[in-house]
Amino acid sequence: METLRNIKIGDTVRVESVGGEGALRQHFLDMGLIPGAEVTLVKYAPMGDPMELRLHGYELTLRLADAEQIGVCPVASKKEAVKKEHRHKKSDHPGLGEGGRFHAKDDGVPLEKGTVMKFALVGNQNSGKTTLFNRLTGSKQHVGNFPGVTVDRKDGAIKGHPDTLITDLPGIYSMSPYSSEEIVSRNFVLNEKPHAIINIVDVTNIERNLYLTMQLLEMNIPMVVALNMMDELTSNGGTIDINQMERRLGVPVVPISAAKNKGIEELVEHAIHIAYYQERPVRYDFCAKNENGGAVHRCLHSISHLIEDHAESVDMPIRFVTSKVIENDKLVIDKLGLDQNELETVEHIVSQMEKERGLDRSSAIA
Ligand code: GDP
Ligand code: MG
Repeated sequence: METLRNIKIGDTVRVESVGGEGALRQHFLDMGLIPGAEVTLVKYAPMGDPMELRLHGYELTLRLADAEQIGVCPVASKKEAVKKEHRHKKSDHPGLGEGGRFHAKDDGVPLEKGTVMKFALVGNQNSGKTTLFNRLTGSKQHVGNFPGVTVDRKDGAIKGHPDTLITDLPGIYSMSPYSSEEIVSRNFVLNEKPHAIINIVDVTNIERNLYLTMQLLEMNIPMVVALNMMDELTSNGGTIDINQMERRLGVPVVPISAAKNKGIEELVEHAIHIAYYQERPVRYDFCAKNENGGAVHRCLHSISHLIEDHAESVDMPIRFVTSKVIENDKLVIDKLGLDQNELETVEHIVSQMEKERGLDRSSAIA
């Protein structure tokens, strides 16, 4: 099979297979190299390695050795591209195992007066996190390291709100444990249980950034999306339908420009509101009934029913752990303490899904 390494500048191809193993393979998928994705080779770096690709509307640099692991084929006809769009139809769900129950206790119950509200600032690299963090905290910052790793940690109170503490987390593309940055950010969200997440999204790179947003929604923690770099988008003639975005994501969305100091007050207002009232995302289920009869959807729900007692007993968000169990994430599987019989049941359900969906487990989830 032809690989991504051998295509020519200007060529557009379709990803057919994704090689590599374990965390590396998951990393490829998280970067958007998913079977079916269309990729264009833009250019090579001056020394000929890495290559710069364009996919899903963003640029990705990839080492040649990695490109060799990606099998590609010529792009198919227009007809097939149209068919793909019809995949995104909403579907109904049974009520069990879908949140609400798991967090019903504290859902919508305000925090006790005087609680220091903890916020996590989460986003892709270069999305403007540090610029926003500096706007929010001013000069009062505490700088240190995350324990055990040389990854910077910065905390501070939001200006004018001494009862808040916001942490600038390392920039990440996904919640998979590939790099030490990803592990630090993921563990922070899972273990330190911030009262709310401020998810900063680079609006000029929106499709790539929303991959992480979707994973953060699965954490079932109150969240506000800060759409940053709006100044750049609008000066290029772009617009965003904020209301529709809020409806579809089920969380507040606030357009801002961290660099130009625009929209920051409104962002703070929303962040404090959702944290204080513990307003969780309205939905974190984005299953689509596709032409395979919703194979992924049925797999997710079967497994979430099977493991929800485990998730509850270790206090981890059910939807997140379900996705990770399907991806065979050993860290999560060990933490859940599933027994042999349950592991085998999971394996049967996932194998069935792979067969029906025609994709391996990680590709199907990505
Ligand atoms: P981080 O990697 O997420 O911490 O991102 P930084 O805060 O370091 O910002 C990355 C780059 O984006 C810097 O050059 C910033 O000046 C720029 N930047 C941040 N916010 C904005 C914004 O709202 N508009 C524009 N045009 N540039 C921004
Ligand atoms: Mg930064």
